[in-house]
Amino acid sequence: MKTKTRLLLSLGALTFLVFVLAGVGIASINQLRGEGGHVLRANYMSLAYMEDMLAALEEAPQTGIPRAKEQLALQQANITEVGELEATTSLAAALAAWEASGQDSLVTRTLTARIRSILELNRDAIVRKAAQAEERGDKAVVWITLTGTLCALVALSMLFGMAEFLSAPIRALTAGIDRVAQGNYRERIILDRKDEFGHMAERFNAMAIELERWENSSLARIMEEKARAEAVINSLQDASIGVDDKGRVLFINRQAVELLGLQDMEETTGRSASEIAKGNDLLRFVLEGRGSEPFKVVLAGKENYFVRGSNEILGPEGPLGTVHTMRNITPHKELDAAKTTFIATVSHELKTPIASILMSTALLRDVRIGPMNEEQRQLTTNVHRDAERLLRITSELLNLTQVESGHVQMRLNDEPVEAIVNYALDANRSAAEAGNILITATIPSTIGKVRADGEKAAWTLNNFLSNAVRYSDPGGAVAITVARIGKEVEFTVQDHGPGIDPQYVDRVFDRYFRIPGSLADGTGLGLAIGKEFVEAMGGRIGVRSEPRKGSRFWFTLPAAADQS
Ligand code: ADP
Repeated sequence: MKTKTRLLLSLGALTFLVFVLAGVGIASINQLRGEGGHVLRANYMSLAYMEDMLAALEEAPQTGIPRAKEQLALQQANITEVGELEATTSLAAALAAWEASGQDSLVTRTLTARIRSILELNRDAIVRKAAQAEERGDKAVVWITLTGTLCALVALSMLFGMAEFLSAPIRALTAGIDRVAQGNYRERIILDRKDEFGHMAERFNAMAIELERWENSSLARIMEEKARAEAVINSLQDASIGVDDKGRVLFINRQAVELLGLQDMEETTGRSASEIAKGNDLLRFVLEGRGSEPFKVVLAGKENYFVRGSNEILGPEGPLGTVHTMRNITPHKELDAAKTTFIATVSHELKTPIASILMSTALLRDVRIGPMNEEQRQLTTNVHRDAERLLRITSELLNLTQVESGHVQMRLNDEPVEAIVNYALDANRSAAEAGNILITATIPSTIGKVRADGEKAAWTLNNFLSNAVRYSDPGGAVAITVARIGKEVEFTVQDHGPGIDPQYVDRVFDRYFRIPGSLADGTGLGLAIGKEFVEAMGGRIGVRSEPRKGSRFWFTLPAAADQS
């Protein structure tokens, strides 16, 4: 049944009950009023007629008889009680006898007695009817009370039933909507009703089914995308760990879990990275992210080298976190070591034949061996110069292999500054003469000694000087200056060559770096090796240069202990 019909029926029933109650009350009141008013009035009129008749008997016959007859006639028309008709009939007979007897006193007494019997009859009737009215009134009260109570009970039970009928489905629907709003799409509302509420529950359940289907399909899609993202992350060569902007682990791949010695991916994801790092030195080192030096990790008994990196994860609304990576560079390291060993071996093997070539060309050029024509002399000079270049290159390569393998052996001694400067001057004399370049050296007499590996300090100064000579124009000048600055001794080589473009100044000390367009014969290694040497001896190195005005290369070394 529809709710509207049910409401109409219930309210209709309640209205009916109200009418029933009102009907019973009105009927009872009417009955009481009818009986009490109408019947009692007839008795009262009989009393009045009889009283009047008694009074008429006292009057003169001429007026008394007609008045008594008049009252009798009225009484005859007002018979209401059982036995009243008979009494009235005998009254009429007595009145006729009284008139005929000439108002005989005996007959008068009989007539008076008849009048009084009618009076008596009506008075009794009044008393009886009053008692009956009272009784009926009591009954009416009982009826009205009973009917009222019954109606009230029925109305109350209907009201409560209706309230429950309306509120129960609303409660069930509200609870269901709440649970669906919380994401419980498996919620169903069971209302075994055919009304609007039942229909509403059915539509609600249909909606929940759709929501559940949608959730399942999007969950499946999300799971699929998650699995795909995990597969991508796991297929990355580098060990990677993503940390969000609140420091929680967003993802970690298998490689990172193995390298960091963590439990598993699932357990790590979502945890605070700094919490995990408290018990994991390697992770802490990676998260700190300072420096790009390779670090060594022993995995399965074998040394592995890694470099770390970090990249910001940028979302549409700004940074979402950071991906920390650890790249395994062991294969490159091994290749690099093999290359270094190879270069070292080749350079070492080349040094002896080159030295012998140099010696032979020097001998050939010796006039004591025999005269050469101009062409022969030019050829031997070229061979000698190329051999010198080869020797310089092989010596640089050898030094480089030492630097790269980390096997630079420093023999620190108190070395006289003059010896270092003289070595560089001697080594560059012939080249300077060939280019007509004037080299001057300014060394304070009090300069004393430096704490250094003499050979490597001389090699570095020699490299500065040979560069200065090579990059100077013919007829130019190069100045070596040595000065004491605090606890250090500074060696400076100033030339007036082409200078260095500011964009390259920071890079000239990088390995294999050569300024584009610079002289053909060079390896780009000399300054890089010199830097390694000077820093290994506790010194500093640098350059100040202005394009077209020349360069000023300098390095410092600690002054020997007894000089400070
Ligand atoms: P190279 O064997 O090429 O000279 P270096 O490491 O000694 O290697 O020098 C690196 C580069 O720095 C050179 O190729 C050159 O371009 C630049 N350079 C070095 N010294 C000078 C200088 N005195 N004047 C101008 N450029 C220089």
